[in-house]
Amino acid sequence: MKGGYDVAVVGGGLVGVATAWGLAREGCRVAVLDEGDRAVRASRGNFALVWVQSKGLGLAPYAGWTIRSSNAWAGFAESLKEETGLDVCFQRPGGFHLALSEKELEARAHMLRRLHNQPGIVEYKTEILDRAQVAKMLPDIGREVAGASYCPLDGHVNSLRLFRTLHLAINARGAAYLPSHRVESITKEAGEFRLATTQGEIRAGKVALAAGNANMRLAPMVGLEAPMKPERGQIVVTERLRPFLHYPVVTLRQTDEGTVMIGDSKEESTDPSGLTLGVSATEASRAVRMFPLLANVNVVRTWSAIRVMTRDGFPIYDQSESHPGAFTVCCHSGVTLCANHALTIAPMIARGALDGSLVGPFSARRVGVSPAI
Ligand SMILES: Cc1cc2nc3c(=O)[nH]c(=O)nc-3n(C[C@H](O)[C@H](O)[C@H](O)COP(=O)(O)OP(=O)(O)OC[C@H]3O[C@@H](n4cnc5c(N)ncnc54)[C@H](O)[C@@H]3O)c2cc1C
Repeated sequence: MKGGYDVAVVGGGLVGVATAWGLAREGCRVAVLDEGDRAVRASRGNFALVWVQSKGLGLAPYAGWTIRSSNAWAGFAESLKEETGLDVCFQRPGGFHLALSEKELEARAHMLRRLHNQPGIVEYKTEILDRAQVAKMLPDIGREVAGASYCPLDGHVNSLRLFRTLHLAINARGAAYLPSHRVESITKEAGEFRLATTQGEIRAGKVALAAGNANMRLAPMVGLEAPMKPERGQIVVTERLRPFLHYPVVTLRQTDEGTVMIGDSKEESTDPSGLTLGVSATEASRAVRMFPLLANVNVVRTWSAIRVMTRDGFPIYDQSESHPGAFTVCCHSGVTLCANHALTIAPMIARGALDGSLVGPFSARRVGVSPAI
């Protein structure tokens, strides 16, 4: 497009930059319009799991979509390394969901049966392990651990490095990252989108809304909907420890740098500046019951961050009928789904249409179904 871009991606969080990288790989001229340094970004505060088990209860295609990304992740990380020299430390050893009582284990098994019994669900392995089986793989568990569910497809990554790497990668591919360009309004005139920003107008042939919870305000400007329900999560980080935890647990993982991240709570709050100490205390107490060696470890950091959360918890991928060329890319689990956004969604946007297999289950039109687990 003369004087403009092929695609304007609104939002420079993980979802936006992954999509932008994929678009740039397709040969598109891309601009990423973002807010400034102090913006609220889930991408800076997450728990960094690339997680499969338990995804999809209430929306079976979400399980298959998540597995697709998990399977693509190793190649995605390798491509990023080739382009930037940075290793995002993706590992997929399998992951655990620990139960601290027989009752918790039974509830977990029941939930997984419901998930895997859904019509149309993709088949994948999640096992329920008893305490002895768990202890073979996680020798440091506490005496209260009754068992766990284990899925070999689960993994984790260095999420902040991933964020930095993607920014480097889009830059290397010539995409324009435009910080402090908060989009105020979007119109379509003479076949092109005009995005009014705090730093003037940007024009583009297509627009991909990847602004997290702000998609709720932006989507109606291009004939789309993005019903959101932001939610706060808190994370506690310990000092560096000798490697003792070789598998991520859904609420606890040892990072490639040796620290232990403990999370991740869910609170109905949109205030990213506060911490609820009772929540941190509960997270820490459960972590110590799972791994008693943590009782004597120093906490070095704790924070809260606001989750990008659609109203039913599942991703929204949509394209506008009234404004052809406008798309929404919006989800929780933006770390897990990063490979899909870069390698599957972006090429579709570059071609100008999302596949029916995506729009069917993931259009915002479905919202109104029961919450995801
Ligand atoms: C505590 C916590 C734990 C999590 N754990 C995991 C996990 O283990 N695994 C996992 O897969 N996911 C996890 N997530 C979710 C994951 O972090 C998010 O799905 C992901 O970061 C969302 O990225 P995003 O780009 O959509 O949103 P954000 O990172 O919030 O970025 C949105 C961007 O849009 C910009 N923006 C907003 N409005 C405008 C506008 N008008 N104009 C221009 N730009 C705008 C903002 O400035 C921001 O840069 C967790 C999240 C939290 C909070």
